[in-house]
Amino acid sequence: MMHLVFFGPPGAGKGTQAQKIVSDFGIPQISTGEILRAAIASGSPLGKLAGPLMAAGKLVPDELVIGIVQERLKEADCANGFLLDGFPRTIPQADALDAALQKLGKKIEHVVSLEVPDSVIHERMKGRGRADDSPETVQKRLDVFRQQTAPLKAHYEKLGLLRTVNGVGTLEEIAAGIRKSIGR
Ligand code: AMP
Repeated sequence: MMHLVFFGPPGAGKGTQAQKIVSDFGIPQISTGEILRAAIASGSPLGKLAGPLMAAGKLVPDELVIGIVQERLKEADCANGFLLDGFPRTIPQADALDAALQKLGKKIEHVVSLEVPDSVIHERMKGRGRADDSPETVQKRLDVFRQQTAPLKAHYEKLGLLRTVNGVGTLEEIAAGIRKSIGR
């Protein structure tokens, strides 16, 4: 059983490192960003609502992402654990996650925080080419992270769940740091 949250600013490498962990441990990766990008690509009502917000670097409303995650956590492939990547991003999302997991008789064991300086983030985003990776949008997303998401760190630290990991280095070095932080 492994219930993980990957936490960190945009460009911290959450998605990349999450892929390694899920393939090593056979748990699903639940990325709200990926789910929302798929919704945009499919032209669904959710995608139409989320698209402009994401393009502007703003967060999608809590109710929407909470609903997505609540449903996703009930799927059979989450029976032995999961890795949440990009959720929760606000305190209300964290509270909703706790409530949803409690109902399912589960709880988060580790919140892995990938620590990366802003200068490195800007460098990394230049090469990535996603629609919301323009320098202005990256700055906006970093501001949103600091204002709305960073407070979650103290929240999870208080709960004794926070594992801080150096997010600068080779992919293998960072992966080793993550595994050490979760004791695996
Ligand atoms: P990501 O792929 O995690 O960087 O997410 C890309 C974008 O999707 C974010 O900038 C937000 O606009 C939106 N998004 C993803 N996850 C969330 C979330 N948990 N809460 C609100 N918005 C989200």
